[in-house]
Amino acid sequence: MKQFDVVIAGGAMAGMTLALAINKLSQQPLSIAVIEPFQVDHQAHPGFDSRSIALSYGTVSILKQFGLWDEIAKVATPIEHIHVSDRSHAGMTDIDTQEVGLEALGYVVELADVGRIYHQQAQLDNNIELIQSSVSQVIREETKVQVTLTNDTAVEGKLLVAADGAISTCCQQVGLELTEHDFDQVAVIANITTELAHNGQAFERFTDSGPVALLPMSEGRMSLVWCLRPEQATEVMGYSDEQFLAQLQSAFGWRLGGLKKVGQRASYPLLLRYRQQNVSHRFAVVGNAAQTLHPIAGQGFNLGIRDVATLAESIVAHAAGDVGSYKVLKHFKQLRREDRHATIAMTSSLVHLFSNDYLATRIGRNLGLFAMDNLPVLKTPLLRRTLGLVSR
Ligand SMILES: Cc1cc2nc3c(=O)[nH]c(=O)nc-3n(C[C@H](O)[C@H](O)[C@H](O)COP(=O)(O)OP(=O)(O)OC[C@H]3O[C@@H](n4cnc5c(N)ncnc54)[C@H](O)[C@@H]3O)c2cc1C
Repeated sequence: MKQFDVVIAGGAMAGMTLALAINKLSQQPLSIAVIEPFQVDHQAHPGFDSRSIALSYGTVSILKQFGLWDEIAKVATPIEHIHVSDRSHAGMTDIDTQEVGLEALGYVVELADVGRIYHQQAQLDNNIELIQSSVSQVIREETKVQVTLTNDTAVEGKLLVAADGAISTCCQQVGLELTEHDFDQVAVIANITTELAHNGQAFERFTDSGPVALLPMSEGRMSLVWCLRPEQATEVMGYSDEQFLAQLQSAFGWRLGGLKKVGQRASYPLLLRYRQQNVSHRFAVVGNAAQTLHPIAGQGFNLGIRDVATLAESIVAHAAGDVGSYKVLKHFKQLRREDRHATIAMTSSLVHLFSNDYLATRIGRNLGLFAMDNLPVLKTPLLRRTLGLVSR
């Protein structure tokens, strides 16, 4: 049976970032296995699909620390201005680069591009072995963990990291409890071509059925995340391109002129899923396996990478000893507690605040947006978390 220092289940954003980060940070070579059933360029890859995501300023700083940003920067589009508004109501707020004194508020990347870059980097790395299979069973002993794969082989590690997404077979095997809350919304995503140039602007607009976000992308396109009630999402997914664009125009408005073209659509049911426990014996959990958030504030991976960075640093600090020891895991758990809870709470309250149309809430949120724009003290904590400027 092959032996590794660290076995990572799941080779998507969290798992691959972790493997590359450990290798970059460690003075002492650590052997790493990444187990992922899908090839990087496979259309059905659930982690490197047609989604685009916004990387916060803080995430970019972490990627720089791991030596990963230079390549990703080549396929990233900067966000220079964020406009937040409430459909048909007065409340709105704006954030721009000058206000916060940064060159960009964040960057938009297509996950498929990042997947390709990560794969190339991992292949250049002698300490990382990519294994195309799935974890089926986890057996832990005092000093090691044995991981059985669906291809009837097994590997052994000092530490197993679950980066295998929201459902996480690994967490199920270890018995870590999952808490779920169904937001009763579905995100419809697609790339949109608009009449007017985006000029680096991102938009988030709150509507009766849920938020609509448009993020600036390469080639003048915008990346759409449109949150709708499940029955509306089913209807919208079935529309012709013309019907889809007309409906979106009515929800989003005319800030970018006419909406001209829509690319292929995909949909994601939105649930909050989290595990209170993010460690167990010889076991740590990162990314979506630890918490899967509503995309309202674009916090999913931006929170996940902070799990990854803290775990990588804890592992590397003990590279000469036992990387799966209680000491490493306790340290990781303690350092992640506050940020995880605060980001989950912030995201979920935004969803509830902005996804219903009770008059009181509507007035409240408009006052809230207005106040946020006029009282920097309110804008700052939310803004700092949005920018990923969070201590770990
Ligand atoms: C519409 C939408 C918009 C979003 N926008 C943003 C945004 O703007 N900013 C942001 O930060 N985040 C955003 N997110 C969240 C972000 O996409 C995720 O947080 C991130 O991609 C999660 O990566 P992950 O590696 O943790 O998990 P996943 O992407 O779920 O990957 C898990 C991997 O594990 C593999 N796997 C599953 N089972 C096994 C097994 N048994 N053994 C081995 N491997 C296994 C899977 O094949 C998969 O590749 C958005 C999400 C959605 C849905």
